[in-house]
Amino acid sequence: MNQKKNLLTIIIPCFNEEEVLPETVKELGNILENLISLGKISSESKLLFVNDGSKDKTWQLIQDYTDKYEYVTGIKFTRNYGHQNALLAGMTVAVKHADMLITIDADLQDDVNAIPKMVDAYLEGNDVVYGVRNSRETDTVFKRQTALMYYGLMKKLGVNLVPDSADYRLLSKRATKALLEYKERNLFLRGMVPLVGFKSTKVYYPRKERFAGTSKYPLGKMLHFALDGITSFSIAPIHLILGMGIIIVFISIVLMIYTVYQKFAGHVVSGWSSLMVSIWLLGGIQLISLSIIGEYVGKVFTEVKRRPRFNIEEETFTKKFKES
Ligand code: UDP
Ligand code: MG
Repeated sequence: MNQKKNLLTIIIPCFNEEEVLPETVKELGNILENLISLGKISSESKLLFVNDGSKDKTWQLIQDYTDKYEYVTGIKFTRNYGHQNALLAGMTVAVKHADMLITIDADLQDDVNAIPKMVDAYLEGNDVVYGVRNSRETDTVFKRQTALMYYGLMKKLGVNLVPDSADYRLLSKRATKALLEYKERNLFLRGMVPLVGFKSTKVYYPRKERFAGTSKYPLGKMLHFALDGITSFSIAPIHLILGMGIIIVFISIVLMIYTVYQKFAGHVVSGWSSLMVSIWLLGGIQLISLSIIGEYVGKVFTEVKRRPRFNIEEETFTKKFKES
């Protein structure tokens, strides 16, 4: 049963995950072995851990597991490049050999039992299988509400996201190749995947607590990521500036007519307070507008430089295929 067909690679980005890693390897290893024994995936299927510049023993652990298990492989970044770049690197390396690629977080928050369902959906002919959370009970009320608002806002802005899906999904080889043709530096994969098209479906799963360790996405980083998502996919904020401008010009015209009329009617229009308020208000609006434009100029700046999105120091995935 040493078939090469349906080779699965599960890509797992890791940033300081030494506490969860042993459990992650165990659970994902079990899933992989089960699927292999059922004959659904190739016996050459692999786990691919991407060490995103961890400061703890994560890479050491990955190396130990690589020596111990044939199906464990790893990529070591030269430094921390971020979650999205780690996913991208995993896909770039794995796509040469894998027929289907699943991305999943290291912390076991995403239920690993959805993996066999994703594989089934692939075998039924889907190129993209989204993992969708059917419960967010483990998230705080704040996170749930802000997520809901965010998906609503993105939809209004015309960005096609699959609600309650993050970076837990399966992509076929050809869908991955299509995705890798999107060369942007400001990566927002959950917005990019729907753009590649292909036949897709969803698999539902319950979102759990982090198995161990703490979140590597503090509020500030999360907010930045969310705003990045908007400005990478929509120029609606610039249209908003136009809207504000039109409204302000309209109000000024009305005020102008009113003051001129009052002057000719012989009334003195007293106006220190209104003057101050207008100056501050307009100053504020102008600064906000400038920073919105600046955000897009900044995007252009980072895009035109075409800097590499990650640098790999060491990689054992390709090596293991050469050996076999
Ligand atoms: N991660 C990463 N690089 C980073 C931050 C996070 O590779 O700079 C990984 C992390 O190890 C985890 C996944 O991205 O596997 C999601 O992070 P986390 O679970 O901390 O985010 P949360 O679930 O709290 O949003
Ligand atoms: Mg998590």
